[in-house]
Amino acid sequence: MVSRPGPAALRELQTACRACHVCVDAGIIAEANPTFAGEWGAPFFLVGQAPGPAERETRRPFSGRAGKELDRWMLRAGFASAEEFRHLTYIAALMRCFPGRNKTGTGDLRPPPAAVKNCAHWLDAELELLEPQVIILVGQMAITRFLGPGPLEQRVGRSFGESPVMVPLPHPSGQSRWLNDPLNRKRLERALTLIKKLRAGWEENPQKKIHMGHAREHPLG
Ligand code: SF4
Repeated sequence: MVSRPGPAALRELQTACRACHVCVDAGIIAEANPTFAGEWGAPFFLVGQAPGPAERETRRPFSGRAGKELDRWMLRAGFASAEEFRHLTYIAALMRCFPGRNKTGTGDLRPPPAAVKNCAHWLDAELELLEPQVIILVGQMAITRFLGPGPLEQRVGRSFGESPVMVPLPHPSGQSRWLNDPLNRKRLERALTLIKKLRAGWEENPQKKIHMGHAREHPLG
């Protein structure tokens, strides 16, 4: 889609993405509100599942309750502030429009496979342009997209790949009971420590590719 990687190419891509309404035309959602944020040169890239009702209003990823929790996690992962985390991290999702609420009104719909498929080329293009050093995978859907199916227990607390390095995290929404288990909270702590090491490696030498050797941790099992 874009020939010369650079800030202009990213802006061009973002403008095209903001105008996307493919899933409305296909009858999957009633309203398109593509939500993502990030700048050229971001060494970190976070992939989430889909925006929620808060993001639908603000058009800023992770701006609701889950976002506040994510910001707190990122402080634990060594970022100086939520602003610094968001400055260094491009934030996108598998489906970047709000999928809607479920019938009972108790939660958001899971992104329909057709929408995720429609949306995939935006994510692929961003990754190709930005070549991030670290990809943070938030939630089971994002983890599965990059690493294939597998239990969170075997994913969170470990890093995957060399360049980029991928670090899975659970979803910070609070709806999941996964973090009620103390062992899983330990897994999260390990994952945040991995991100901390990767961030420190990037700060030491922003030009150098970060390799997993900086960060690999043994899983808890
Ligand atoms: S979910 Fe993605 S593909 Fe579908 S309309 Fe929104 S931006 Fe376009």
